[in-house]
Amino acid sequence: MQEAGIPSVGQTTAPASVPAPAVEAIIRAEKIEKYYAQPSQNRIQVISATDLSIIPGEIVALLGPSGSGKSTMLRILTGLSMPTAGQVYWHEKPIAGAEINVSIVFQSFALFPWLTVLENVEAPLQARGVSADVRRDRSMKMLDTVGLDGFEAAYPKELSGGMKQRVGFARALVVEPEVLFMDEPFSALDVLTAENLRSELLELWANKTMPTKAVFLVTHNIEEAVLLADRIIVFGKNPGHIRTDFKVLLTQPRDRASATFIELVDYIYKVLTKPDVTPAEAPDQQAEPKPRDQRQMHYEALPHARPGGIAGLLELLIDKGGRDDIYRLADDLSFEIDDLLPIVDAAQLLGFLTVEEGDAAITPSGTEFANSEILRQKELFRDAAVAHVLLLRQIRRALEAKKDHTVPEDFFLDMLDEQFSEEECQHQIETAVTWGRYAELFDYDAGHRRFVLPDAQDEEIAASEDAE
Ligand code: ADP
Ligand code: MG
Repeated sequence: MQEAGIPSVGQTTAPASVPAPAVEAIIRAEKIEKYYAQPSQNRIQVISATDLSIIPGEIVALLGPSGSGKSTMLRILTGLSMPTAGQVYWHEKPIAGAEINVSIVFQSFALFPWLTVLENVEAPLQARGVSADVRRDRSMKMLDTVGLDGFEAAYPKELSGGMKQRVGFARALVVEPEVLFMDEPFSALDVLTAENLRSELLELWANKTMPTKAVFLVTHNIEEAVLLADRIIVFGKNPGHIRTDFKVLLTQPRDRASATFIELVDYIYKVLTKPDVTPAEAPDQQAEPKPRDQRQMHYEALPHARPGGIAGLLELLIDKGGRDDIYRLADDLSFEIDDLLPIVDAAQLLGFLTVEEGDAAITPSGTEFANSEILRQKELFRDAAVAHVLLLRQIRRALEAKKDHTVPEDFFLDMLDEQFSEEECQHQIETAVTWGRYAELFDYDAGHRRFVLPDAQDEEIAASEDAE
């Protein structure tokens, strides 16, 4: 089927920060809208008029809150679902009549439970009429590529989540898709498995092991987007629309501890947590030196200070007009300087003050924190902690990612001990617990030496009480 009215290339009206692509888009969505019928006759708009292009050579990440229409967008871009208005083009031909070559990896794996691993991978080839011999050959090679050599005869139920998703990748890649779509592909996996799969996927992409020309990744994980994507689109909801769209210029492999990485994560975090504020331009990205070590993260040591101490110091600073000499502050508080410095460092780490020539100067966010009611203080502390403290961010993310919302303390000790002495590791964990509890980011179960999400622990207690 061939439809008339194919527009010329370059009509895309992308937002200012991403100029219209100079190369021909593989997929180009033009002013697409999506409505769903409601039982009550009123239809609900899920996507408002949106332009979006997928061009060769790019990994695009679509980030956004749950329910913002990310999966709907993915379905429309793959031709699985028709937009209510607007048009999607595959190499500038309307997608409905085009011979498209894409595949999708789902969060839920979506494997056929009654088929073996090999048969699952062969299935899309069979659907495309590939002969049995070629099918088998290509599937075996692909299983080998994703590290599933020897598991051909296994059934999905015999596999761990990570291995199931490897089958998901093999099945998606075996057809050599021009665009690989992924809808939260790592969200159902534990942190380490997800981390491994991400790196392996990047390796396949970088080594051109897969002939895929573009990747479109839906995720709600900010760090995942900044780790993987060449371009990030942040979606807002009610109805879904593009809030910001920018390129990530960091070279691969990316260092989570690099200033630009952290700045990008902070920027996206701010955009997502302020859904009613028009986002600022994405930060300028400086070229960065090669990371010291590709995989290892760098933790900034947490200064051992309590949130109450930080608030006290900031209040004193406000009394002093917002700025004072650190030694004089110590004197006024009858503190040894060594006892005050961790508090100053902590406030500085959180962005509540700056230190210049021996003076501590309060920042606007420090002033807001010091002048707020206790509940608001907790919120401001939480925002600052997540934005500035890698360890707290990791603990929280790990807890969210895990099905049972608990992570043993050892997991983080193993990462910290690359950098700190055994004793200091314990101190780091203690301070992380103090800060995390205060900010209500997570709780710590001392009996089992593990971190828990505040709600998860309540549920668990409720469950064990039910059992009794
Ligand atoms: P996301 O992937 O960002 O979480 P979705 O694209 O799944 O968002 O959903 C966006 C909105 O559209 C949600 O409010 C969801 O309830 C609604 N929605 C999704 N699919 C359907 C459908 N088939 N019928 C009606 N409403 C739907
Ligand atoms: Mg979704």
